[in-house]
Amino acid sequence: MKFEVTILGSSSATPIYNRNPSSQALNVNERLYLIDCGEATQQQMLKYDVKISRIDHIFISHLHGDHYLGLVGLLSSMHLNGRIKPLHLFCPPQLKEIIDLELRCSDTTLQFPINYRFTNPEVPEIILENSDVTVESVPLDHRIPCTGFLFREKKRLRKLLKDRLAELDIPIEYYSALKKGADYTSPTGRLIKNEELTTDSAQPKTYVYCSDTLFNISYFKQISNATLLYHEATFLHNMLERAIETNHTTALQAAEVALQTKAQKLLIGHFSARYKTLNELLEEARSVFPETELAIEGKTFLIGD
Ligand SMILES: [Zn+2]
Ligand SMILES: [Zn+2]
Repeated sequence: MKFEVTILGSSSATPIYNRNPSSQALNVNERLYLIDCGEATQQQMLKYDVKISRIDHIFISHLHGDHYLGLVGLLSSMHLNGRIKPLHLFCPPQLKEIIDLELRCSDTTLQFPINYRFTNPEVPEIILENSDVTVESVPLDHRIPCTGFLFREKKRLRKLLKDRLAELDIPIEYYSALKKGADYTSPTGRLIKNEELTTDSAQPKTYVYCSDTLFNISYFKQISNATLLYHEATFLHNMLERAIETNHTTALQAAEVALQTKAQKLLIGHFSARYKTLNELLEEARSVFPETELAIEGKTFLIGD
């Protein structure tokens, strides 16, 4: 099953040095989930071949402009492209007011419904569950209410030991029950335990998106053991005071989060405009957590494997 994320924007605050504000397209089993929608997200989608029509779920972490100013434009394009299928929007409640105002002022009635699911910045909640994935909101510590998002693959069915099944002559119609964990009783009454006939499927993988936040252990437990952790790393650690003042994280701290929460891999982004090149941020993070990569726009990262 496909589980990968494409970076569309990795800049904090303003577009600069060819970097654009936050946005990512997550592909889970060929369904696309858009995470944050900074200015230029549409252009980035065109550039990196992320089809607008394939987006049915959009997650907005918070209402600083670098995380949502591209959204109304995107909704407008969906409308003009003749979209009629519903769009699911996970966001702070005030975003609905902003969208409603924009639509009212332009006398626009969207052709498609928006199903809102408002995030709660105080407690983690399961905000979406379908056959591929469960999504939890992750309360973060920012200047305004902000949540990250945790995407967890659904647990797969058990794997059949085909040779063993053939050996024991087990009829095909029992396979689906065996995959779900059932034992098998032969026509002569012999009980064969499921563990003899199947093996466990791989552990579900997780993708965690944390932007923007102060380094705070309050969210560590919820995001622990991430297969891939995206964490904001706005500044180098010599700017720690500025990071604390603005409720952001340094590259060193992002690496510390990955280390303490036992992430398998770390992706850092949300780079400050003060850094023209990003090597120092990468080196700083890798000094604590070697499995770190930069969230470079246009790059796709596999989650696991
Ligand atoms: Zn931001
Ligand atoms: Zn912010």
